[in-house]
Amino acid sequence: ARYRAGEGWHDARLTRYAPLQLDPSAAALHYAQSIFEGLKAYAQPDGTVATFRPEANAARFARSATRLAMPPVPAESFLAAVDALVDADRDWVPTGPDQTLYIRPYMLAVEPFLGVRPAHEYLFIVIASPAGAYFPRGVQPVSVYLSEDYIRAAPGGTGDVKCAGNYAASLLAQEQALAAGCDQVVWLDATEKRYVEEMGGMNLFFVRGSGADAELITPELTGTLLPGITRESLITLARELGHTVTERRFDVEEWRSGVEDGSITETFACGTAAVITPVGQVRARTGDFTVGDGTPGPLTMALRSHLLDIQHGRTADAHGWLHQVR
Ligand code: PMP
Repeated sequence: ARYRAGEGWHDARLTRYAPLQLDPSAAALHYAQSIFEGLKAYAQPDGTVATFRPEANAARFARSATRLAMPPVPAESFLAAVDALVDADRDWVPTGPDQTLYIRPYMLAVEPFLGVRPAHEYLFIVIASPAGAYFPRGVQPVSVYLSEDYIRAAPGGTGDVKCAGNYAASLLAQEQALAAGCDQVVWLDATEKRYVEEMGGMNLFFVRGSGADAELITPELTGTLLPGITRESLITLARELGHTVTERRFDVEEWRSGVEDGSITETFACGTAAVITPVGQVRARTGDFTVGDGTPGPLTMALRSHLLDIQHGRTADAHGWLHQVR
């Protein structure tokens, strides 16, 4: 769909996947006035196809738009566009138990001008791509690199919304993590550089203790990390399973000393793409440490199966998180 100031949203249509035509001075290309979302559709055992909590993506998309001085897409239009695409993608059939349809809604400023101000013209687009198993060789802990040279988001910035610029600013640190032999970068807070914020495209959880009494800790939403929909879903599920979940600031040294004295037993990251990823080795300038024994922890794997079972319709959807499309 297109937006033009004075006309509002119009021209919603379904077209074949094809290159876009943009004016070379389209605002998004210069000033990154661009936001996006990521969600998935899952084939259900009865042959229907459902998306997972698309209303939460619609709400976050609207928040991102407002922060970037863009016109929010009404939730009904966002949901209708996602549904129309999933419905049109009838040739998508999962070829295995881990197959999903990844959906990428996005909005960019297309007005041609070179001055710096919010644009008056936008495009809202939804594309989709089949996604296979995120871990073709099974779930294995990732190694992470604590970024001390670069900061992902500062107070008052755009860290709690999903805008293109956040990712552009993160690429060099991700490259540094890879060069250091790690899979992912872990971000620290901008002010004191000691509180753990989040991973590349995922939120983090720390497990204190073990068994039924295990407590989960996840960094609180200070405004500089993305409020993940998976994070929020897991907080709900873990509490239902009887675990205490605490949202608070979490110091790297608390992580390290907890791992060393055995009180922090597991760490995992979560997001739409990978669902839940265990974290193993941690590389930090002040010394490396490894969480657990190098294999995925029991609470990590239990929460992972529980969430996947809900998404794939193998267990009751007690929260109404699935939205049937077709
Ligand atoms: N943090 C960042 C920076 C992300 O890009 C994502 C992926 N959207 C997440 C966290 C996880 O969010 P969600 O669970 O909504 O996918």
